[in-house]
Amino acid sequence: MSVQPSLQNMAKDAVMGFANRPAPKPVSPPKPKRRYTGAHPTTIILVKDRARGCCERCGRSVPIDAEVHHRIPRGMGGTRDPRVNLVSALVLLCGDCHRWIESYRNAAREDGWLVLRNAEPSAVAIHSALHGVVLLSDDGGLEPVGGAA
Ligand SMILES: [Zn+2]
Repeated sequence: MSVQPSLQNMAKDAVMGFANRPAPKPVSPPKPKRRYTGAHPTTIILVKDRARGCCERCGRSVPIDAEVHHRIPRGMGGTRDPRVNLVSALVLLCGDCHRWIESYRNAAREDGWLVLRNAEPSAVAIHSALHGVVLLSDDGGLEPVGGAA
C-alpha cells in the first residue's frame, strides 16, 4: 500500500475543501506566567519620546518596538511597587546595552542604569551617550547634572 495520497483522494480533498476535515481545536490564549507588571502605555510613550528612537545608553538608533528597561530590578514574580514603572525608572535600550547591564550589574549601577530598590530613580543620574549625565524626571524631562550637559 502506498503512503502517497492518491490523486483521487487529493482531488476529493480539493473539491470538499475543509468540509470533511475535523474542526480545528480552539486555541486558548497563552496563560500569563506571572502578574502583568508592565508600564502604562502613556509612560512608554513618554520614555520613547525622550529617547527619540535611540538607545539612551549608547545613542544608537533602535527599532520602533525596542523594549524599555526597568532600572529598579523587579525581582521574582514582579513587584507591587509602583515606582518600578515611573518614567524615571524606565529607559529605552538597544539589545547590546540591555545585555551589558544584565552582565555588568555593578558598573551599570555606578552609571545609573540600575538603581537600588529603595532609591528614587529620579534622584539617580544616568551616564548617557544620548543625553549626557542627567536626572530623569517623571514627566519625561531631563535635568543635566553638574552644569551644562
Ligand atoms: Zn545601546
